[in-house]
Amino acid sequence: MRHFRWLLLMVAVFLSTSCSKQGVELKPTMVEPAGVLNELGHMVRPTLVQLERMNQQFRDMEFPVLLVGYTERDRNFLRHLIKAADVMDQLFWQQVSSDGWKIFQALNRGQRQGILSAEEKLVQRLMSVHYGRFDRLKEHQPFLGGDHKPLGASYYPEDFTKTAFEAWVKAHPDQKEQLENEYTVVRYQPGTSRLSTIPYAVQYRDGLKLAARYLNEAAKYADSSSMKAFLEARANAFLSNSYRFSDELWVKVEGSKFEVVIGPYEVYEDRLMNYKAAFQAFITVTDPLLTAKLGRVKGYLDDMEKQIPLGDQYRDYERAKGSPIFAVDLLYSAGDTRAGVQTMAFNLPNDEYVREKVGSKKVLLRNIIEAKFRLLLKPISQVVLVERQQALVSRDSFFWHILLHELSHGMGPGIITVGGKTTTVSKALKNLYAPLEELKAEAMGFWMVDYLVRAGFFPPSMLKETAVASLAGFFRSVRFGAEQAHGASNLMYFNYFKQAGVYQCDSATQKCVVDVDKFLPAVIALTGEVLTIEAKGDYQAAADFKARYGKMPAEAKEMIARLGHIPVDIRPLYVTAELLEQE
Ligand code: ZN
Repeated sequence: MRHFRWLLLMVAVFLSTSCSKQGVELKPTMVEPAGVLNELGHMVRPTLVQLERMNQQFRDMEFPVLLVGYTERDRNFLRHLIKAADVMDQLFWQQVSSDGWKIFQALNRGQRQGILSAEEKLVQRLMSVHYGRFDRLKEHQPFLGGDHKPLGASYYPEDFTKTAFEAWVKAHPDQKEQLENEYTVVRYQPGTSRLSTIPYAVQYRDGLKLAARYLNEAAKYADSSSMKAFLEARANAFLSNSYRFSDELWVKVEGSKFEVVIGPYEVYEDRLMNYKAAFQAFITVTDPLLTAKLGRVKGYLDDMEKQIPLGDQYRDYERAKGSPIFAVDLLYSAGDTRAGVQTMAFNLPNDEYVREKVGSKKVLLRNIIEAKFRLLLKPISQVVLVERQQALVSRDSFFWHILLHELSHGMGPGIITVGGKTTTVSKALKNLYAPLEELKAEAMGFWMVDYLVRAGFFPPSMLKETAVASLAGFFRSVRFGAEQAHGASNLMYFNYFKQAGVYQCDSATQKCVVDVDKFLPAVIALTGEVLTIEAKGDYQAAADFKARYGKMPAEAKEMIARLGHIPVDIRPLYVTAELLEQE
């Protein structure tokens, strides 16, 4: 009976909500007094119209996941994990800024009491998107309050600088390991200007204890012994502050209907030093058929590595071992990953030691990818492409390129020799590594499509579809900001392909056509150039390449301006998780 009720609910949800809805009514309104924000002493910066425009950049999208056939035990498993994920969410709010969570809570209370002004309603939704009062699409400029977001978020003292950090580390080598550790916060010792570190397990003790309890509860309902072992180890890591063992167990989870990521992972929120890890969670349901299909690509990887366009003299490098790939549907997410632009795929853990030892795991979020294809890529292609090529933009080419992009990160030079010394591409290319590595993954991902067509894995039409989708893909991701690694990398391939005659844009009609015959030679040349820069660890060559191809051309700017009616990204609403909690 319970299952039947669930089925009915899910069908109802699916029918009524599988298309996107606008979360906030965006009628032009008079500015009303901002009571809640006034009380907190905060000032809204943009006008009401600007706030509305910012809100429209993220379209509300409901993500129902059909759980028909899943047992009561599975549902209990998910319920406890959702609670643990909610703790990650609150901890991330604390990591972003010292006051954001307090303001957001006050606005939420105001909303429940029905006392928010139109302006405050818009600010409240924006804060739920950006996790704080700073615009993630605009280099963290404040939309509330006048001050700028500290580069080190709340991981370091607010007035802290990179120079001060580096000087302190140099003078105190005994503290280096703890200061640079991804799981500590840095603070002044009370009343002094001396630095000390506090482990996450202490700084966020109450939250992490609670999350550990939920994980241990969830572990009791796990459907595989490796999943149970991972959750218990991760609960211990929350208390001990040492994550390596549980990261290893995570890579080895198998035989489960679920894929779960929970804990501190990415370091992008730390814009000061890129050291400190942000809390996040993904709770997902695996798609075994699609996972099996994706897994078949792995059989080609060794041969592909041999054939990548890179001179023999640069092939003396080591690579980490192969890794499992999963296709999943996202049921719930929290913290870092839910802020701003939504993740479509990830490759974890980040700990190089673990990657060397047991490899890493790649996960593709099928329902998120599909939503972005339908809501963003397709409409963008209708604006920027000539009509006869629009139909070529296929879901398959978008989906597979995301996988091939992720696989490309694991190929080509990693550990290299520069001037007789062993180093990594990342250390050699420093601040240019992220955009160059993303460019490599994009270009090599295109190259892999051709390889897999030749291998008979893809139909021949796939290369043409990929060529056309690459243009729409550029316009999709450049809107995240050209300073951001993905925006910068896509700008470089756009200019490179334009120069090679692959993209021909007409300023009169404001449409582009893709010369699919020129695509492959340009892809091979680009992949070769980027791989060579990486293999040599040539910082100057990377800087020259970025200076040459990294500028926004005027015609692209004009076309981007014509995409204003299309959202930049989605704000996911997890309706199935909500139903689970209410059951
Ligand atoms: Zn990437």
